[in-house]
Amino acid sequence: MQNNNSNPLNQNSDDFDHNHLWHPYASLPPSYPNLVIDKADGVYLYTKSGDALIDGMSSWWAATHGYNHPKLNNAVTTQLSNMAHVMFGGLTHQPAINLGKKLLSIVPQGLDAIFYADSGSIAVEVALKMAMQYQLSQNKPERNQIATTRSGYYGDTWHAMSICDPVTGMHSIYGKQLPIQLFTDKPEAGFDTPLASDIKANLCTFFEQNQHKIAAFIIEPVVQGAGGMRFYNPEYIRVLRELCDKYDVLLIADEIATGFGRTGQMFACQHADISPDIMTVGKALTGGYMTFAATLCQRHVAQSIANSEYAALMHGPTFMGNPLACSVALASLELIIDGDYAKRARHIESQLKPYLQPLSEYTQVSDVRILGAIGVIELKESVDMPRFQQLLIKHKVWVRPFGKLVYIMPPIIMSDDELALLCERLTQVLSEYLA
Ligand SMILES: *Cc1c(COP(=O)(O)O)cnc(C)c1O
Repeated sequence: MQNNNSNPLNQNSDDFDHNHLWHPYASLPPSYPNLVIDKADGVYLYTKSGDALIDGMSSWWAATHGYNHPKLNNAVTTQLSNMAHVMFGGLTHQPAINLGKKLLSIVPQGLDAIFYADSGSIAVEVALKMAMQYQLSQNKPERNQIATTRSGYYGDTWHAMSICDPVTGMHSIYGKQLPIQLFTDKPEAGFDTPLASDIKANLCTFFEQNQHKIAAFIIEPVVQGAGGMRFYNPEYIRVLRELCDKYDVLLIADEIATGFGRTGQMFACQHADISPDIMTVGKALTGGYMTFAATLCQRHVAQSIANSEYAALMHGPTFMGNPLACSVALASLELIIDGDYAKRARHIESQLKPYLQPLSEYTQVSDVRILGAIGVIELKESVDMPRFQQLLIKHKVWVRPFGKLVYIMPPIIMSDDELALLCERLTQVLSEYLA
């Protein structure tokens, strides 16, 4: 690699990327090179050197229909020829309305007001602002903190970071600058693990003691994603719903990762058969085509804000309700509904089990867990990324471990044969890595 003193405009592509482009959660320059992808099609990513890597990541939960999908391509190009964007302030358009109707046809009962946001983190920020304005509208300004469990992940913007796990969160570096929020114990691990009575009792005490400070309790239902890829019993959410009702605390469900069938239900809340007051969606919303998200709330939240002294919800991004994003999201939702992605995820779960569970026999593996179309192999030690990445390329498979976690959430459209191939290649990588 050339050093970054040379003229950037004269550098070859690899050097320019290395010296000038930041990548997620990485230093600049990074400690090992990024892989150049030239095109993506179906469930394969094609490298510059022509290798077809089978995709185990859905580009961080988003590309649930795989890549280069004709229906999604068509939605974008049709909309593009009509109108790429207009401001949403004072104007509206059919793509936003059509998407809104489709969303309301699938979300948990009671959610009926929609705020279009530009990314998952922003959808979370909007949810927090909604909750604060709601409490103001109820004349409870002292309720200005957000409660959550440990081990959560809600995004990278300032307030979203403040509710991520304070110790293991990727953002512990900013700890002292972040607003103070209220944390409870993390839910016990295991989708089938019965809710322990002491966890329930602690949660009750937590609400009792902090009720006057809490605007909302935010949770990733059933699956804690980037905070540790943990699964927990839906009963926990039912208890949360009851406590929120009892103490007039809003319940926010962050379904940005779990939504649209990934866990085996359309939304993970539906494992618990509850409706949150506020819900965020993103990631797979546009099938991975572009950045887009939404914050939904129940009528009583919107109504209370509307009736208050500060009637307007004070957020309004430049690209709010972008027509291209709305059009591709509508096409994505049609595929998800027509293809019964929740059912497909349950089928993937049954397929992943025989492939991944035997990996728990490695002494270096501490746990293997599978829920819906999510498979997690937790190692005892953090993954040596440069070494692991070399093996991925060698065996033509794409996954992106973090810390001790090697995990897959393949495109939901993956066929049985492709899923077998993904698992075989990943197993091969692990067997060489752990040898
Ligand atoms: C990814 C994620 C976010 C943040 O979404 P971005 O689009 O990356 O800002 C928020 N919450 C959860 C649960 C997520 O998985």
